[in-house]
Amino acid sequence: MILADTHTHTTFSTDGHGEPEAMLQSAVARGLSMYCITDHMDWLFPMDPTSFLFDAKKYFAKLAKLREAWRDRIDLRIGVEIGLRDEEDVRDEVRQYYDELLRNFPFDYVIGSTHCLCHTDPYYPEYWQTRTGTEGVLRYLEAELWNLENYDGFQVCGHLDYILRYVPKNRRVQKTKLAEVTDAILRTLIRRDIGLEINTGALRRNYPETNPSEAIAARYYELGGRLITVGSDAHYPEHVAANFDRTEEMLRGIGFKEYAVFAGRTPGLYKF
Ligand SMILES: [Zn+2]
Ligand SMILES: [Zn+2]
Repeated sequence: MILADTHTHTTFSTDGHGEPEAMLQSAVARGLSMYCITDHMDWLFPMDPTSFLFDAKKYFAKLAKLREAWRDRIDLRIGVEIGLRDEEDVRDEVRQYYDELLRNFPFDYVIGSTHCLCHTDPYYPEYWQTRTGTEGVLRYLEAELWNLENYDGFQVCGHLDYILRYVPKNRRVQKTKLAEVTDAILRTLIRRDIGLEINTGALRRNYPETNPSEAIAARYYELGGRLITVGSDAHYPEHVAANFDRTEEMLRGIGFKEYAVFAGRTPGLYKF
């Protein structure tokens, strides 16, 4: 059984709907022994630059207190999900911001995610107006590859192919055209000792696969990658550790024997 949820949000994130206490309560009720809160930091978010930021001092003050108060029930880790950017006119500033943030605050765990590119969020239809389904996904994966090669300080790549959730329904994506850049991403992760997050968030949105998909997780394994984490990306208490059972089965089927949970940005390995 997977005993930790390593990707979760609270009301410190603009889109989070559970107070930290409610999320912890849910984690304990689900039998987890470790829990990691990873609220959003998206410096220079395109639509509203302040929309995905939290006050790191307040965050640490609150979560460090909770860690003590809940110590006998669950082991709380304090993490963050940072939004990486590859646009030439913003990337230097974004890199500096995260370097300073990670230097100044002792996060246990940092997820590096690509949310925005081309000065927009592909969640919005405008991203897809000038691109086919395949082009939109390809452009995202290229941005992600650049980010994974050029940012430091994060321990895993968050939801590698989650752009697939946002492809408009009437568009086709030719998966064979994505293989080369996907391989380049996986090889970069292995070379840089960055873990691969298996994000189960899509499963509760009626999307048929985790992000990344089983095929990509299997390819990572085939290339020699073994460092994986599992996270629900819960934004509500009821979503903590959702669909972990079927995800564990999928990962065991590929051959994975253990998953990682970080403390002090160092992985602890746990058998399924
Ligand atoms: Zn994310
Ligand atoms: Zn998230």
